[in-house]
Amino acid sequence: MEKILTLATKNSNKVREIKDILGGLNFVVRGLDELGDNFGNVSEDAETLEGNAIIKAWSVWKRIGGWVIADDSGLFVNSLDGMPGVHSARYAGEEQNDKANNKKLIDELENKDDKSAFFMTALAIVNPKGGIRVLTGKCEGSITTIPRGEDGFGYDPLFIPQDYQKTFAQLGDEEKNKISHRARALEKLVEFFLERE
Ligand code: IMP
Repeated sequence: MEKILTLATKNSNKVREIKDILGGLNFVVRGLDELGDNFGNVSEDAETLEGNAIIKAWSVWKRIGGWVIADDSGLFVNSLDGMPGVHSARYAGEEQNDKANNKKLIDELENKDDKSAFFMTALAIVNPKGGIRVLTGKCEGSITTIPRGEDGFGYDPLFIPQDYQKTFAQLGDEEKNKISHRARALEKLVEFFLERE
């Protein structure tokens, strides 16, 4: 029998990426927008990515049960004590503006020698009994203060993954999705489900 897996997100790009990656498994995958229900926005006010991913997955599971997954990601810059980190979306203000966030990061890093950074994803899974498991994915790299590339979103024009010369925004989605923090967490998710089949 097919099992239903709900993704606790309204972001259609994430829903598509996760549907693709879980395509071979015995799940019907659906995003919140497909449920015809008004889920509103869950406040993501935890101090960690793991905490936020659990809050999001749990709030949906409490209403509809079954298998639910949610993710939360951020960019951690070593010379800025891990900022913007869990605050990545709102680094320059509540309006969640990518351009303003990038400008703020460039300004903060202008005089720092160490520009190393990493992206991190936490993926929370709630099973039909309410048990929670968190998987993580990491992508190491560095920040350039000269934005490059047109693809992607967020900090992609500033982030150069380790062993590459191009930014995420120059690499494009196909290449990025092979090495990104989210892709690595999703690989673990596939293993997690394959072990249970
Ligand atoms: P979310 O949890 O996936 O919504 O990510 C939170 C914030 O982290 C986003 O608004 C972006 O600013 C940043 N971010 C997460 N993943 C990426 C990425 O793959 N590229 C660039 N920025 C990202």
